[in-house]
Amino acid sequence: MTESKRVVVMGGAGFLGSHLCERLVGEGHEVVCLDNFVTGSPTNVAHLVPEVDFRLVRTDVTDYVHVGGPVDAVLNFASPASPIDYLRLPIETLKVGSLGTLHGLGLAREKGARFILASTSEVYGDPQVHPQAEDYWGHVNPVGPRGVYDEAKRFSEALTMAYRSSHGVDTGIVRIFNTFGPRMRPNDGRAIPNFIRQALLGEPVTVAGDGLQTRSICYVDDLVDGILRLMHSDRPGPVNIGNPHEISMLDLARWIVDLVGSSSEIVHVERPVDDPTVRQPDITRAREELGWEPQVSIEEALKRTISWFREHPELVTP
Ligand code: UDP
Repeated sequence: MTESKRVVVMGGAGFLGSHLCERLVGEGHEVVCLDNFVTGSPTNVAHLVPEVDFRLVRTDVTDYVHVGGPVDAVLNFASPASPIDYLRLPIETLKVGSLGTLHGLGLAREKGARFILASTSEVYGDPQVHPQAEDYWGHVNPVGPRGVYDEAKRFSEALTMAYRSSHGVDTGIVRIFNTFGPRMRPNDGRAIPNFIRQALLGEPVTVAGDGLQTRSICYVDDLVDGILRLMHSDRPGPVNIGNPHEISMLDLARWIVDLVGSSSEIVHVERPVDDPTVRQPDITRAREELGWEPQVSIEEALKRTISWFREHPELVTP
């Protein structure tokens, strides 16, 4: 059992942030959750609010971050992360990646806390190297529509490294690959929630392009485990956390239709601009430095996620 810490989770009411808050409180840590609820929701952490070790604060981290008292760790998970969200909120995405990260680093510096940056496989862009290890520099179009997210995260990595070298802040960078699980918004536009929602409603399942593009998909509990291992370590990263289980979007759509037992047909829609063709993490570093690898099979993870969607029919709307 590690000693109890006081942890600030920026973006703590989002999909990943809420799972982190839940696990941290469950392990006996004290959590201050900051969120402006632009893409996150208080509903995601409502079950934690009665806990004495949990505090929810509505604030926009791009304005300023203030937390009274000691802080041991600052986890920066604040950002729109679904393509339809960051395409709708391009300037907010750039501001939270730059100013939000700056404020989080400033808080960590003031408190002498460890700072963990949630970065992304999107820093590799449409990769020319497969699978992607941390020493690959990426292939990103800065002026394409996805550039607002990719470049915000690339900037936040550079800023994090600068605070480490110039100000001696204890930092760690995690590059998160596609992750799914309960509390994803069924309408958030990403492949897995979209396919599940469409299959449950009996609507056509929309596969972009020929569907041969791949992603490697990780269950949220595994991801949270990797992030907490990084938080408790002194490793700087960047470290890839993701499940190397790679699958084409067409196979994923068929699998989900099958697991739901749906009669939905598969239809092909236009492929988004600059949509990466392949993506798979090399997790050698996570294995060696954190002793981490995913534990939950994708079949089991998809079943759990489908069950959660079934339990929340009010969210599963056309
Ligand atoms: N995609 C799809 N149908 C959908 C939503 C997404 O085929 O209804 C594709 C998308 O074009 C991409 C992949 O699924 O090739 C993963 O997209 P997602 O938005 O989940 O995440 P990304 O990895 O692009 O951030």
